[in-house]
Amino acid sequence: MAKTVPAANKQQPKKQKHQPLRTCVACRDTKTKRELLRVVRTPEGHVLIDAGGKKSGRGAYLCAKLSCWQKALKEKRLEQQFEIEISEEDRKGLDDYIATLPPVE
Ligand SMILES: [Zn+2]
Repeated sequence: MAKTVPAANKQQPKKQKHQPLRTCVACRDTKTKRELLRVVRTPEGHVLIDAGGKKSGRGAYLCAKLSCWQKALKEKRLEQQFEIEISEEDRKGLDDYIATLPPVE
């Protein structure tokens, strides 16, 4: 009777079906995480762009669109989301980043 040897490195094929959805804090569109940019409030109270999506802290998501960022900043959506004031220094960091975004409608 032949025994089947269990394959040590048996890998399940990864399906891209189940993607977690996030909501843009500006336009309220629901998209997959990879379509949105993550902003994080660090434990130290800074608000930063988390391009890699790996920083720890409380996160908020925004479309990679200039219009959503302008709206979020104008209406203080990030402040509301994080329940803090964004410092001038952090705000400048966000502004610098936003300036690199393509001006999509
Ligand atoms: Zn949006």
